[in-house]
Amino acid sequence: MISMKNIDDAAGSIADVIHRTPVLTSHTLSVLSDKRMFLKGEHLQLTGAFKIRGATNKVKAVAKEGAQHIVTASSGNHGQAVAYIAEKLGLQATIVVPENAVSSKVAAIRGYGANVIAYGTTSTERLNKAESLIAEQKAVFIPPYDDPFIMAGQGTIGVEILEQIPDVDVVYVPVGGGGLISGISTAIKESKPGIKVIGVEPEQANDTSLSIKRDEITAIDHIDTIADGLRTSQPGALTFPVIQKYVDDIVLVTEDEIKEAFVFVLERMKQLIEPSAAVAVAAAMTNKAGLYGRNVCSVISGGNAAREQIASLLLQAE
Ligand SMILES: *Cc1c(COP(=O)(O)O)cnc(C)c1O
Repeated sequence: MISMKNIDDAAGSIADVIHRTPVLTSHTLSVLSDKRMFLKGEHLQLTGAFKIRGATNKVKAVAKEGAQHIVTASSGNHGQAVAYIAEKLGLQATIVVPENAVSSKVAAIRGYGANVIAYGTTSTERLNKAESLIAEQKAVFIPPYDDPFIMAGQGTIGVEILEQIPDVDVVYVPVGGGGLISGISTAIKESKPGIKVIGVEPEQANDTSLSIKRDEITAIDHIDTIADGLRTSQPGALTFPVIQKYVDDIVLVTEDEIKEAFVFVLERMKQLIEPSAAVAVAAAMTNKAGLYGRNVCSVISGGNAAREQIASLLLQAE
């Protein structure tokens, strides 16, 4: 388990790289949800998502140990974050992406100066490829969520929320592999245990919700959601115990609720967020967890939506 000390250390380690992101408010959203709503804006973070926090904490730690070449397997926000921080710290980075990856995401990774290897279509194929690179080239693997440095880095968001919204009652957090919520819930519960931390998953990627119900890590094999950052098949071995200990509830949102939240935030708040972040707004708008308190914060985890996806979401809106 990570501790508050790990998160404080992470905050010190990453402070010279990351942005302290703003907290946004919306009168309309507050009226609609009958609460005071706050959005923690990690879509305005460097590289467009919170992943740069954990990646910076982890990559700085392995660089201190002498690593010169780092590897990961992700075409998404984690891949971009690792590529960015490697270039910034002068390390070599290799990112293994699926052969069918979205071209704008691959271009962003290349733009940060990383080597890109397109390999296979499943995460198992990509991980095997990354492992062979690690063996051949003495590279160090940077995991997307199941790692204490990654979890502690993401937890720095929790510290900022407590400082920026001192009277917050409920925090909604999107859940993929659980790095984000394990860090945030540790920061919040070890400082102010009365604040509720609620995880949000798409109905069609409900692995953590199911695992909590069964009280053991449970994999799902059917995943079908537009929230591409949340398409993990099971929670992590390190993140799950933290979620069991600190997270008050995991709620589920439908694909339609995600789409409505995405369009609402774009139209009314003029903010471009990605579907994986919209789940936290959807849960607040539909009051999934019941009314615990007045002051509610949704963590906007990222804003990297491909233009084809934005176009299709707007065309589908009523
Ligand atoms: C990675 C990611 C998540 C999920 O984070 P986990 O640490 O895997 O739970 C949520 N939103 C966005 C935008 C992401 O990139």
